[in-house]
Amino acid sequence: MTPHKIIKSNRRTLSISVNDNAELIVRAPKRVSNDQIKEFITEKANWISNKQTLIRARLNDVKKEQKMHLYLGDLFPIKIAQTEDREIIFNGKEFITTTQNKDALNLSLKSWYKKKFKEVAIPRLFYFANKHNLKINQVRVKEQKTLWGSCSSKNNINLNYLLIMAPLKVIDYVIIHELVHTIHKNHSANFWKSVESIMPNYDDARHWLKENGYKLRNL
Ligand SMILES: [Zn+2]
Repeated sequence: MTPHKIIKSNRRTLSISVNDNAELIVRAPKRVSNDQIKEFITEKANWISNKQTLIRARLNDVKKEQKMHLYLGDLFPIKIAQTEDREIIFNGKEFITTTQNKDALNLSLKSWYKKKFKEVAIPRLFYFANKHNLKINQVRVKEQKTLWGSCSSKNNINLNYLLIMAPLKVIDYVIIHELVHTIHKNHSANFWKSVESIMPNYDDARHWLKENGYKLRNL
């Protein structure tokens, strides 16, 4: 066990620690010899190796989590593989991509998310609009920094495609919320009553978005 760093100072005793990168740090008095330090490390070998194993496992978890991506509320890993296809493929269990470059990967993920959102959410928007006889003008799908959706005075609806990372009931809630704005241009008690009449458990979805919304923006 070789220390990553030996810090000598005016202290009186030897001490060892393992930092967040699982590296061994030794703090020693100025007069202590390298042999004494070696001996001290050997004495503490068990403690050091236990500590390092623990921290390395935690580091691995963090790395694994970074490679996971949300789709309809579940996390899926990204696998890098040499395929003919230059876009992202999703096989129901994992995303497969050819690129390891983070920016390129984010770009192709975003265009995949946008495409999927259109496939999944737009038919639902028209389904709820027809079912409840709500008249909409135009629908646009785009990434928005602060909003999940909006409805203009002319009943043009914008939806944020990053919502495709959220569970379906959350997507439905945002759709219904914006659709109800075609009749109530505010968040009055009547507005919420109408939302509830279409989606009785809307509050769960609203809550999910408040708690987890940041995860959808942090691609
Ligand atoms: Zn609103």
